[in-house]
Amino acid sequence: MIQLPLSKLSNVGTSIFSQMTQLANENEAINLSQGFPDFMPDPELLNYSDHFIKKGFNQYAPMGGMISLKEEIAKKIECAHQAVYHPDTEITVTAGGTQAIFTAIASFVKRDDEVIIFEPAYDCYEPTVELFGGIVKRFEMKAPDYEIDWNSVRNLVTDKTRMIIINNPNNPAGKILKENDFRELVSIVKDTSILILSDEVYENIVFDGRQHISICKYPELKERSLLVASFGKLFQVTGWKTGYCAAPENLTAEFRKVHQFNVFSVNTPIQLALAEYMKNPDHYNNLNAFFQEKRDFLRQGLSSTSFEMLDCEGTYFQALKYDKISDQSDIDFARELTITHKVASVPFSSFYKNKRNEHVIRLCFAKKQETLEKAIDNLCKI
Ligand code: GLN
Repeated sequence: MIQLPLSKLSNVGTSIFSQMTQLANENEAINLSQGFPDFMPDPELLNYSDHFIKKGFNQYAPMGGMISLKEEIAKKIECAHQAVYHPDTEITVTAGGTQAIFTAIASFVKRDDEVIIFEPAYDCYEPTVELFGGIVKRFEMKAPDYEIDWNSVRNLVTDKTRMIIINNPNNPAGKILKENDFRELVSIVKDTSILILSDEVYENIVFDGRQHISICKYPELKERSLLVASFGKLFQVTGWKTGYCAAPENLTAEFRKVHQFNVFSVNTPIQLALAEYMKNPDHYNNLNAFFQEKRDFLRQGLSSTSFEMLDCEGTYFQALKYDKISDQSDIDFARELTITHKVASVPFSSFYKNKRNEHVIRLCFAKKQETLEKAIDNLCKI
């Protein structure tokens, strides 16, 4: 038998989101693991996609995206953050946030380049960096408040640091970055050529009157940043796999050199539908209140249990500390919760390289009222 080579990611398993969703399905459990809504998107948006498909917009879009959509994206960013991106040369429509992140890393990270990430970290950053020969340096944020000690981050910076990846609001911890975090970041990258990849897919889901601060608010950061966002999270259509990357022209030009060979272009009728729908800012300006109600319903429902609810400033996710209930590892606890109590979650250790176990699990509350009610019922019986 000839020995065929393994892939470059042979040491990586199936993503925790797929694993937990599969376990939920096998056990007929309520799936609060993977972050996707279980309710219908707005019928108005669905009408637009139907319209553009039937009107015959079914061939390739321009490589960088449909201009009508890029114009709406530029308007949205300018209105929210007073930052200007040129629709044609500084915005690229992507097949979701993950593809934008992949392409950004593929475009700029070379062998032996160092990339700083913050853990708990979304699962695609590290494998993508390693696929291109980069080396991940990590700062671990810890329960219960997941604060960043910027002096430690500063110590991770070397001559080889190519990129810093931030995720704001953070999945899974639900933390958002504040003014002082950005001031520290500005001082760290000053006089360096470090790029910033800013994953802001939950930008419109922040709570309790807080403001999402985008990387593009700071000119000295904007000029070196690739800002990634997602329509899946903005309009509750995660299966449409559409998002975008906004970056200065010089970075966008390099990004597109990879993008053209990665996906070339993105679903035409869906881009047109999104553009039409975005013309009314109410379609995204009310998301904070909509999801805050779901967060509060879940928190209220669990308030009499022994779960400790950690702060949730934004995202689809509530973190629960369960150390008063069990001393199992979070992986075992999440499995048992799915199999015995029929509620699927994601263990936090899967967001850390060293599988840091702080007895914390993540629940997705982007679900119908009845789904949340059933999950609360089951969790209250523990
Ligand atoms: N972003 C979603 C989550 O965090 C899932 C994405 C995925 O399954 N790859 O759960």
